[in-house]
Amino acid sequence: MINRLAIIGIGLIGGSLSLALKQAGQVKHVVGYARNEATRERALSLGIIDTAAASIEAAVAEADVILLAVPMGAMASVLAEMAPHLTDNMIITDAGSTKAGVAKAASDILGNSISQFVPGHPIAGTEKSGPSAAFATLYQDHKVILTPMKQTNVSAVETIKTMWQQTGAEVSEMTVEHHDLILAATSHIPHLLSFNLVGLLAQNEDVDEVLRYAAGGFRDFSRIASSNPVMWRDICLSNHDAILTLLQQYQQQLTEIGQAIQEQDGDYLMTLFQSAKTARDTRFEIPKVTNGKK
Ligand code: NAP
Repeated sequence: MINRLAIIGIGLIGGSLSLALKQAGQVKHVVGYARNEATRERALSLGIIDTAAASIEAAVAEADVILLAVPMGAMASVLAEMAPHLTDNMIITDAGSTKAGVAKAASDILGNSISQFVPGHPIAGTEKSGPSAAFATLYQDHKVILTPMKQTNVSAVETIKTMWQQTGAEVSEMTVEHHDLILAATSHIPHLLSFNLVGLLAQNEDVDEVLRYAAGGFRDFSRIASSNPVMWRDICLSNHDAILTLLQQYQQQLTEIGQAIQEQDGDYLMTLFQSAKTARDTRFEIPKVTNGKK
């Protein structure tokens, strides 16, 4: 049971953690910080937080666990602002979608408190954002990856692992580098492709005519292009190496597909499509639908 949980960034991810722990009866008091008073008021009125803090210093005071759930581009400045106010008994974690940048920022900024920092990433989400998007079952039957560093205290990892398990999530551990490579493939590149295709079509003068005839496949593929642009800009900039490596492979493959179509090479296309179908049908573990959102 967490006595006092401080959430910095009360949006979809931070808000859903609070609601899940409250529903499970595993947190006594949640204090939340966001820059805008309107965000804090909304989180209060939705019962996501018990107290709104108008500063990061006030939010972390006397907290047992602190969750950073702000966009990746804000992680370093939030860490710097909270660092002088941390005490030995506080455990800090984050929910950022890429891990190398935040792990480096924490190492540079946190001083002795680095042993209390447990980098993490819930593999759950929707294309919606802000406190109104939060819901208690977001993490149920989803994975959470923790990427402890060599300095991380084992008991701090255990506390954060237990916290996520209490939301219904399955927790695993891996290195920061492995995490960033895997997530580039399964999340960052798909979002890039969706933003790119929808952005390209939106430049067409007859975009409304095109979208009127959009079928289920396009609806599925384009859903994630409705995600928060600030969040995805920050993710792409922070996971640059892994994303660029995969993008290069993707571009190479696209060139080959183009050539095959030009040369009417049906065998090439059949081999590619069949191997993708077999992988999708037999080897992918797809998260269950929760609350009708994802
Ligand atoms: P979100 O719904 O947009 O919420 C972000 C929250 O942070 C808002 O309350 C916002 O309120 C606050 N905020 C923004 N900039 C801030 C700053 N500079 N200082 C303090 N507070 C700030 O975003 P989210 O989807 O919850 O994502 C949060 C984190 O989780 C991101 O790092 C993201 O990479 C990660 N994540 C997201 C997903 C997903 O699918 N959405 C999944 C896994 C992990 P104000 O604007 O009022 O400050």
